[in-house]
Amino acid sequence: MRIAEIFYSVQGEGSLVGMPSVFVRTSGCNLRCVWCDTPYTSWEPEGEEYNPAAIVAEVERHPAKHVVVTGGEPMIAPEIVELTGRLRATGRHITIETAGTIFAPVQCDLMSISPKLANSTPEGRWAAQHERLRLQPKVLKRLMEHCDYQLKFVIAAAEDTAEVEHLVFELGADRTKVILMPEGVDPGVLRERGLWLAEICKMSGFRFSPRLHVDLYGNRRGI
Ligand code: SF4
Repeated sequence: MRIAEIFYSVQGEGSLVGMPSVFVRTSGCNLRCVWCDTPYTSWEPEGEEYNPAAIVAEVERHPAKHVVVTGGEPMIAPEIVELTGRLRATGRHITIETAGTIFAPVQCDLMSISPKLANSTPEGRWAAQHERLRLQPKVLKRLMEHCDYQLKFVIAAAEDTAEVEHLVFELGADRTKVILMPEGVDPGVLRERGLWLAEICKMSGFRFSPRLHVDLYGNRRGI
């Protein structure tokens, strides 16, 4: 499977924010978000071929008890089921970060699902495929039933939350597992958007998530 990077850092988003974790980032994605913060896994995918045993050996070089399999879209990676099975055998806590458009019977402790809202749709030749694939309620339900989950949404404008409310209702999701994050890769933009987004969370009961890795390290790879 093609891997863009494997690195040791702290989880920057969601319910496990701050947790020391090894990140395994697969390369390749079926979506093309206009604001994608890892274009080297989607718009211009890069990476080297690894087999699952080699990935696990790399993960084991680090002391973390948590591993995050992310992308790109890890659910489309060949051997993703074998990889998560091998990671499970090491006793680590496994988070899968997915956009929730495809199901695979992976081993995991936290299904971190980030359904893509209309604010993600690009212009140009990818627009139609992205728009057709970005929300798959049946797949989302199956992923939510597979293991513990969180639903993480990227919010660029206050109006985006109407689409979140609609989807949460359709899925019957637990509101305490719904997490809103400001869109942006610049600490100043994240702070400005974070202030009004926190107020929305206070009113709606959804959780707020920072993008801690951007605050700590800036918008860089391998962090
Ligand atoms: S789903 Fe994730 S990796 Fe794929 S284009 Fe969107 S933000 Fe980028």
